[in-house]
Amino acid sequence: MINGDDIEAFKAYHSYDLTLNEYQRKARETAIYPAGASIMYPALGLAGEAGEVANKAKKIIRDNKLDREGMAKELGDCLWYMAALARDLGYNLSDIAQNNLDKLERRKKNGTIKGNGDDR
Ligand SMILES: [Mg+2]
Repeated sequence: MINGDDIEAFKAYHSYDLTLNEYQRKARETAIYPAGASIMYPALGLAGEAGEVANKAKKIIRDNKLDREGMAKELGDCLWYMAALARDLGYNLSDIAQNNLDKLERRKKNGTIKGNGDDR
């Protein structure tokens, strides 16, 4: 007979944190664009999806209402293009994420979180 412990064990077994690299590998299966358009295609797509996020934010002002789920979906679209662009550049998403965290930690340590320039 199935009890509460079994259900919790089932949930624990079937829920896991998708790693960035796993996501990137899976997203690759739907990355269908001409090889000659690598880098440009996902870079432009990322800009477009970022615009969709901004448009959802604009509608908070216009309609005084947050489309939380819709904005989350647009963030997912951004992630897809980021994964594709990173792959076209020869990086995996985990490395990009870690490098970004390292950079921000360095800036925090150096007191340069605020300010301008990539090489702070
Ligand atoms: Mg979208």
